[in-house]
Amino acid sequence: TGTLYLVPTPIGNLGDFSPRAVDVMRSVDVIAAEDTRNTQKLLTHYDITTHQISFHEHNTQERIPQLLARLQAGESIAQVSDAGMPAISDPGQELVAACVAANIPVVALPGPNAGLTALIASGLVTQPFAFIGFLPRKAQEQKTFLQQFAELPMTTIYYESPMRIAKTLARFTEVVGGDRQIVVARELTKKFESYIRGTVAEVADYVAANAPKGEMVILLAPPAPAAPVTWSAAAVQDAVADRVAH
Ligand code: SAM
Repeated sequence: TGTLYLVPTPIGNLGDFSPRAVDVMRSVDVIAAEDTRNTQKLLTHYDITTHQISFHEHNTQERIPQLLARLQAGESIAQVSDAGMPAISDPGQELVAACVAANIPVVALPGPNAGLTALIASGLVTQPFAFIGFLPRKAQEQKTFLQQFAELPMTTIYYESPMRIAKTLARFTEVVGGDRQIVVARELTKKFESYIRGTVAEVADYVAANAPKGEMVILLAPPAPAAPVTWSAAAVQDAVADRVAH
């Protein structure tokens, strides 16, 4: 059988496409792309001539058996979405599950992802964290959804569009109050990359007044300050000594 490769693509900066990703895209038999016209720009830039077929949320069900048949016949496939990691708020997860069920090897390449990139620069606790993704759009559903996730004892990560960010932050204020730390990470890897950091009230006010544009990630701190994990050599030695002593 062939192999399914999950290939992350840039989330803004073309330089983030890895040399290995280029090699894989060149060597596979076919590229399954969320939007073939969008991916063509990347292929042209990197001089990749591999044939593409579309694979998106509206044709997933009909495509999966076709892609499985090709993999079973020995072809290799690279699956890509428009930006970032496939299967993260993007198509891919069902295809992977189908391959796993059919014993077809799946290889994921590491690479660009908006949520993790934002998390590590946010200044918020990085462990544990939960990636939540897009919020429901309707007010009441959004509220119920946030009540479920915003109280988890970990940093939570959401995707949101600039059109809805102000309303969404108002909802965060309703659900968790104004005092919690929150970060909005904008335009990651692009020219106008920026982080808006502060309390929920401060960030909501800033966003209401400035209407920031571009793609964005919201990161919400856990309810109570999580105890920082500190590793000092002395503490480790003490722990070891303590265990030896007993
Ligand atoms: N698969 C992608 C990933 O691995 O991050 C996510 C795709 S999802 C359809 C698009 C959302 O990701 C945007 O609405 C935004 O919330 C976030 N996003 C993507 N690129 C971004 C960037 N350069 N800066 C900030 N957020 C970004």
